[in-house]
This record gives sequence, structure tokens and C-alpha cells, in this order.
Amino acid sequence: MTPETGHPRAELHELLDDRLDGEARARIERHLDTCPACRLERDTLLRLREGLREAVRATAAPPELADRVRAALDAEDSATPMHGSERRRRSRRAVLTIGAVAASAILFVVLFDGRGSSLPSTVARDFTRYQAGDLTLEVTSSSAEAIQAFFEARVTFAPRVFDLGMMGYTLVGGRLHDLTGRPSALFVYRNGLGRALICQMFPGRTEELSGATELRDQNGIRFHIYRQNGQTLVFWQEAGVVCVLVSDLPAEDVIQLAFTKAMKPNAATGADGITPTAR
Ligand SMILES: [Zn+2]
Repeated sequence: MTPETGHPRAELHELLDDRLDGEARARIERHLDTCPACRLERDTLLRLREGLREAVRATAAPPELADRVRAALDAEDSATPMHGSERRRRSRRAVLTIGAVAASAILFVVLFDGRGSSLPSTVARDFTRYQAGDLTLEVTSSSAEAIQAFFEARVTFAPRVFDLGMMGYTLVGGRLHDLTGRPSALFVYRNGLGRALICQMFPGRTEELSGATELRDQNGIRFHIYRQNGQTLVFWQEAGVVCVLVSDLPAEDVIQLAFTKAMKPNAATGADGITPTAR
């Protein structure tokens, strides 16, 4: 076991595999709360694993390919805790090893839709980055109108900054964000306990998404729900705009907020879902 004082690098894998008991899990999560380096490492591992899983799932990959992926991940598991340049070098080498296996998996999947499948992981990573203080807000306001105006002056699509005050969530601010190369209106809420909830709205189609944990239909709207690493992501379509709520709040809380705020395209005013009024 890694001493409490070190970076629990090997245990990150066990955490991602759900192989830790409650006490060990709580200890690692406490460490993650205080250590941006380990959070970054966890997110990198998650992205690698998700990419591999989706690549393998998207095709009838030969079983030995899955075995090689597993072997590469297990080899990483056996890494001992290290610090400084040795740790970075080992980490780079492991990433290269896994990357090589991933590359062969992705080559095997000729039509692997990297752009679509990376959306949820990117949204999840953005939430983690915000939590870590790595994602700065360009406008700070608790007013939906003010943040709406900030976006309307900067984007051609129409994000809809909703007021969640009735549900106990206060707006913190927003930023014009780059989401896998496209503009995204990103805005942040906090509840009374200080827990963050992030919304992103960007031009696109939910058809780009794949590998959802769950699909739910509510009020004629299809919700694409992803649960990963303690985060819940809920995507839905509003005309030409994809909306997503993400948080590490209880999954049903996030889902119910999405259900409450999602708007059917034909209920939106204006052409092509342009809904200038904040609610
Ligand atoms: Zn650490």
C-alpha cells in the first residue's frame, strides 16, 4: 500500500476499477480533493480507458486485443509509488505503452468516431478542471440575464442561461469555452453547500454521442445520461444546440434538474431554437 503521504498512484487504478473498500476509497478521494497532480493523472487514465473501451466496444475486436489492453493496464497497476522525475518518466512510458495498444485498437476501428465519443469525457474533464481551479470564469454574476448577455455578445448560436434559484442553485459565472474545437457557453452554479453544477451549451447534435450509460425519454425529450467517476452528465437537444448538465452531485439530482429545465424544440420561440429570453 502507498503511504498516506505519497501520491496513491497505483491505487488510482483500483479506484477506477471499483476495487477499493470504503475506507481506502475515502482516503484516495480525500487525497484527490487536495492534489491537482493526482486529479490530472486520474483524468488522463479515465480518458485513455474510455477511449480504449469505446474502441473495443465499437467493433468485434479480437479477444486478444482486449487482453493486451487489460495487460497494459495491469502492468500500470504494479507501478510503485514514486516522486519527481522518475515518477514522470515512468508515467510517460506507461502512457506510451497504453497509447500504443490504444493506437492499434483505434486503427482496427476504421470508422471510430473520435469527435462524438470524446464529448462526454471532455465535458467531464472540464468539470474536474473547474473543481481544481484550472478553468477560469470570464464573467462572474449571479444574474442569468447578465451571463446570457455576455454570451449573446460573443456567439452566433443562442445558449439559454436558466435560473435555478427555485431549485436552490445560484449562478456563479460563465466563460466562452472551447469544447473539442467548437464554441461552448459554459456556466456554473453552486448550491447552498457549495457543490458545483456546470452547464454547457454548444452547436451540435446528440446523435454525435455514443456509449451513454442510460437513455431516458421525458416530456418528449431524449436525455443521454453518462455516469463516470462519480460524475453524472445529462445531455439533451434544443434545436441546433446540445445542452449538458454535469456535476458530482447525486445522479438523480442532476437528472431531475435537466428534466425540469429542458425545453422542447417546438416550445422554443423563434426560428431554429433561438430562444433569447433567459428563464
Ligand atoms: Zn497526489
